[in-house]
Amino acid sequence: MQQESHPFDEAFGKAVDLGNQIADADEKADLWDIADGLLAGAVQYWLYTRQPCGDPRCEECLPISTAEGRLEELRRLIREFSEESQYFHSPTDSNVGRA
Ligand SMILES: [Zn+2]
Repeated sequence: MQQESHPFDEAFGKAVDLGNQIADADEKADLWDIADGLLAGAVQYWLYTRQPCGDPRCEECLPISTAEGRLEELRRLIREFSEESQYFHSPTDSNVGRA
């Protein structure tokens, strides 16, 4: 059986692993700094891949054909991935009711 390739899952898993590796290698490292760095790198890579192809009639590039359009698409994805995350809601959220 041929091994199927899942680039999304691979990139997702490796990004999380990388954060853990950096944290493990330096116990004084600020986890928020590591996370911000990972996010900045992900945004950088995402923007690099979403440069419009240059054909003004290209429908695929239409939503990302301006900087504002790319930011809108990025916001949409961040909202989607956040809501799908097991860590989106936290039991220590300030708006969690305590019985
Ligand atoms: Zn295009």
